Amino acid sequence: MRGLGVRRVLLGVFLAALACGPLAGRFAGRGTTYDVVLTGGRVVDPASGLDAVRDVGISDGHIAAIATRQLAGRDVIDVSGLVVAPGFVDLHAHGQDETSRWLQARDGVTTALDMEVGVWPVAPWYAEQEGRSPIHFGAAAGHIPARRKLKHDVDAGHPPTSSRELQELFIRERAWAYDAASPAEIDRLVALLEAGLHDGAPGIGVGLQYTPAAGQDEILRVFELAGRTHAPIFVHTRWISMSAPGSSIEAVQEVLADAAATGASLHIMHVASSGLRQTPVILDLIDGARQHGVDVSTEAYPYTAASTVLASAFFDPGWDKRLGISYGDLQWAATGERLTRASFERYRKTATGNAIVHMIPEEVVTTAIASPLVMIASDGMVFRTGGEHPRGAGTFARILGRYVRERGTIGLMDAIRKTSLMPADRLAGYVPAMRRKGRLAVGADADVTVFDAARVLDRATYEKPMQASEGIRHVLVNGTPVVRDGAPVKGALPGRPVRAEAAEPSA
Ligand SMILES: [Zn+2]
Repeated sequence: MRGLGVRRVLLGVFLAALACGPLAGRFAGRGTTYDVVLTGGRVVDPASGLDAVRDVGISDGHIAAIATRQLAGRDVIDVSGLVVAPGFVDLHAHGQDETSRWLQARDGVTTALDMEVGVWPVAPWYAEQEGRSPIHFGAAAGHIPARRKLKHDVDAGHPPTSSRELQELFIRERAWAYDAASPAEIDRLVALLEAGLHDGAPGIGVGLQYTPAAGQDEILRVFELAGRTHAPIFVHTRWISMSAPGSSIEAVQEVLADAAATGASLHIMHVASSGLRQTPVILDLIDGARQHGVDVSTEAYPYTAASTVLASAFFDPGWDKRLGISYGDLQWAATGERLTRASFERYRKTATGNAIVHMIPEEVVTTAIASPLVMIASDGMVFRTGGEHPRGAGTFARILGRYVRERGTIGLMDAIRKTSLMPADRLAGYVPAMRRKGRLAVGADADVTVFDAARVLDRATYEKPMQASEGIRHVLVNGTPVVRDGAPVKGALPGRPVRAEAAEPSA
């Protein structure tokens, strides 16, 4: 209860600061020397609609002034000719490791959370990350790792990043994915997830397609937990298929029904790769559900290929028919080779890596990015399995370079809204501190991305997925530069945990 009081006071102070922000920018602070000043840049802030040249003054990790005149700072960074945007917030970042985080920082990301697979147990994982990350980090209380605890008594923390761990999970342990849970086990599973929320997880993560044995009754119980605690629930839906039964549309209908029945706040992961050609219908479903009171949101990444563990349930028999593709549409991430039936069978048994899955039509990607319902998230993976998908390094620069500048699919303001404000606000109902992210305003956290709109572009490819983006000039996390003049700042680790104060009794 004490936590709630402190939170209210902090929120009040913040809102007051926001209210007098423009005045503070114009009149206050004369004679002030800020810690850092970004001078002469084009400030684009979707929350206020501001798109104009301003100086941004930063002190004590917060934005202290946004002014039309030149501000004084101990560290003045000339950003004239560049866009100054709120730091990008990625709600779907599996790469919770040093290499991935640095690549994301160089892609303009200042907060990267794994809200899909998540972790279990939660508290030790957060403790382990403290002081080790250039960008803000966090993870959901994960249904997959909790089911692993239930069925195998494994305290695995974050899901595997090494070949050995992948073998353990997908070859030796199978029950977490393929064994149904009894009513007593479902009670225990819900209790494990609730413990994860009490540890401060900012939501619940569910990767339904990877746990085919998790019945609709089990998932409804997990949604009930989300509804009761107000923790948002993030779901990779049950099926990807263009035909019923088991179509992509039905998979979305299941979670929309669960959200409507429980009052849970629902986020559907990567709508384009889960929806494929059914994506327009799914977007209609989501839009209609929102108009009728269901709190649901969604996201997409800007690529025509997916990527996932070849040994997972994703590739259980019938995958080719369901997805409408065949062996040659799969690429073994570690080597870049296209698969055949023989190499598919061989690699699937060894479980040491991911396949790139070329299955998303470009017009589906474009439809998703253009939809005002859809925010941007990378679904970036871990980089220790010998190869990966470029989305972990290039998603955000690709949106700005290819879909804003080259193709004009969306405007710059919309792109920045989809990459910063929308994802920050998605969590803010449960994690009030997220209201200080995703915006450039006095009192907001000084998480800032400065890029060259004429040059910003992804460089990561399916063959070379770890090439950092270009045109991202400066990235500040809590006012500390982690990327400066396009280069990572060695040893800068200002990233803080994103967590909920979930110890309050639920209403
Ligand atoms: Zn997913």
